[in-house]
Amino acid sequence: MTKTKAPAAGNKTKEEYAAVTSLSGVGPQMATKLSKLHVNTVQDVLFHLPHRYEDRTSVTDLGALLPNLSTVVIGQIDLAQVVFGRRRSLLVRISDGTGSLTIRMFYFNRSQEKSFQRGLWVKCFGEVRPGAKGYEMIHPEYRVSRDEPEGGLDSTLTPVYPTTEGVSQALWRKITDQALKQSLPRIKELVDVSCLPPEMQTAYQASSLQAAIQALHRPRTGVDLVSMQEATSDAHQRLIVEELLAHHFSLRKSRAAREHELAPVLEFTSSIGRSFLNNLGFTLTAAQQRVCHEIGADLSNSSPTMRLVQGDVGSGKTVVAAMAMLQAVSSGVQCVLMAPTELLAEQHFKTLGDWFGKLGIDVGWLASKTPAKQKRDTLERLSNGELLVAVGTHALIQPAVDYKHLGLVVIDEQHRFGVEQRLALRAKTPEGQVPHQVVMTATPIPRTLAMTFYADLDVSSIDELPPGRKVVETVVMPSETKRMEVIQRVKAACESGKQVYWVCPLIDESEALEAQAATDTEQQLSAALQGVKVGLVHGRLKPKEKETVMGQFRNGDIDLLVATTVIEVGVDVPNASLMIIENAERMGLAQLHQLRGRVGRGSEKSFCILLYQMPLSQHAKQRLKTLRETNDGFVIAEKDLEIRGAGELLGTRQTGSISFKVADLIRDQHLLPLIDGTATKLASKTPQHIDALIDRWIGSKEDYVNA
Ligand code: ADP
Ligand code: MG
Repeated sequence: MTKTKAPAAGNKTKEEYAAVTSLSGVGPQMATKLSKLHVNTVQDVLFHLPHRYEDRTSVTDLGALLPNLSTVVIGQIDLAQVVFGRRRSLLVRISDGTGSLTIRMFYFNRSQEKSFQRGLWVKCFGEVRPGAKGYEMIHPEYRVSRDEPEGGLDSTLTPVYPTTEGVSQALWRKITDQALKQSLPRIKELVDVSCLPPEMQTAYQASSLQAAIQALHRPRTGVDLVSMQEATSDAHQRLIVEELLAHHFSLRKSRAAREHELAPVLEFTSSIGRSFLNNLGFTLTAAQQRVCHEIGADLSNSSPTMRLVQGDVGSGKTVVAAMAMLQAVSSGVQCVLMAPTELLAEQHFKTLGDWFGKLGIDVGWLASKTPAKQKRDTLERLSNGELLVAVGTHALIQPAVDYKHLGLVVIDEQHRFGVEQRLALRAKTPEGQVPHQVVMTATPIPRTLAMTFYADLDVSSIDELPPGRKVVETVVMPSETKRMEVIQRVKAACESGKQVYWVCPLIDESEALEAQAATDTEQQLSAALQGVKVGLVHGRLKPKEKETVMGQFRNGDIDLLVATTVIEVGVDVPNASLMIIENAERMGLAQLHQLRGRVGRGSEKSFCILLYQMPLSQHAKQRLKTLRETNDGFVIAEKDLEIRGAGELLGTRQTGSISFKVADLIRDQHLLPLIDGTATKLASKTPQHIDALIDRWIGSKEDYVNA
């Protein structure tokens, strides 16, 4: 009895509002376009809030313009001419006594060209950009007049709506006008003020919900741009709180839905566990033991586990995954370990193969490039239930893979499941059951986000490294002047028996170019480092070739491994104690931390050299500084959140679910700790309002979250 959410049923509030087609200007075609933005009803229109504002209320002197500023200017035409550069364009030069500006248009007709006559006045609005001869506006909105015009273009700030192809700002204005007039008075308060903590009550009492919505769509005269952009007004604050609550409730709901689902009860046979641990060659840290128990308790329960295990690079997540998998095996149920890259999956295959082999448990292998015959064989043994354990990539959950009884899925190095993955997993268990899921990540979720935005997951932390781990000393150097010196250092390290990684730059979107760059670097370093055994690994190699090179590096047959970022996750060679990362300025914090985690795993003191190319952006500078200063994954994740924003941390690319209309998890993070408690109070005082609140803010996107 897989419980899926019935689409429109239960969304009673939705039926109270007319469809968008009831608004003038919206026909069936337009309705389809709006629906892409999840705008289906008039209520959705009201909650489709502007994402920014433009100030067309006041005029800026031409002498006072600043680049990237969007503003209204007024000037008199000095000159208008068509020029034939790389592209034919119409240039209109205007001045106002304080300075001048060029208007540039690439698309124009005869009558436009003629309208710009010397001596006439132009009032226009656009973004100021630096041009070849002073500031320019490209295709501004404009009006030409005989007499000198006065004042701005609008009397209030102009809302700019998030939109999609074929839906103009004018249309948004037109339909929000109608919705505000017809339906705003019907929008109900759904959040009971008495449930809010005092610091949130002020904004609620200062502005009713209706007034807040009105204020965001149609800013009042005199409201300044800064307060609207920074969302500090009472109207903003109360809407932000509601939106955060709605998202939080939606996650709670998907957790509750899961509690009605059934997963196999996995019992642990302690004798297997004991032999496994006795054969490991090390003792679990206290943190590993604790997390093993947490997962163990989950798995012995009939409601499906959905647990995130966060542990810094090298904290020993693999062994924790293995313990969980043994619990499935000892209950006679199948389990898989899925990794995002083939290289990492191979490494896990090898590790689990060793560990489980000693216990007489067979481990299967499945990746997209697995040879057909071997694949057929594995598939057959998975479907007849002969094989209890498999390791691989996404190939493990493709439709063609049929499991006899899949009970546990462990996913490495990911934050959240993609929707397709969750659905795919449902199809792989016997009637009426879903598999337990454990997700492991080295990128911890900052505490502030965890409570509110992982409310649908349980979280465990391996907050301790195995004994003897050394801090990786990190230095940052300009490539241009220091590269030769670094190469000498690599030479010395290799000669003294150490092993070294040389990580080549990330090349956007092109695995081929990246592979080429790595190949060039390998040749260059081989030439410069006579006597050093150099290996190369990149994404374009065949899996077998990759495995051979990695094997040689592991065995010490290779001293220096030149690699692309394919080695980012999981690769484990304890004797490697020096890592060079080229063009470190192009990489993200989490990625650099992951890469660096490949060293510092053995007994040697380890070093990481981050080479960068000028010029360094402000953010890149901050990233490199953070890495130099700390090895702590939690601190790095907090910094990352600060520098980069929450979107990627939350894995929006994977779920497509968490995007906000007014809230901003960075800017509004001070509110997050208050959300969980408030939600609990609301859930007990006004449970009847929760669905309506979710529907209002998330609407049809919610089906996606619950998938
Ligand atoms: P990660 O959390 O980055 O996935 P791994 O599971 O790859 O870390 O573990 C890193 C290394 O530490 C491996 O070589 C693993 O065998 C070793 N290891 C794991 N747990 C311990 C422990 N408790 N004591 C000593 N070494 C350990
Ligand atoms: Mg790992």
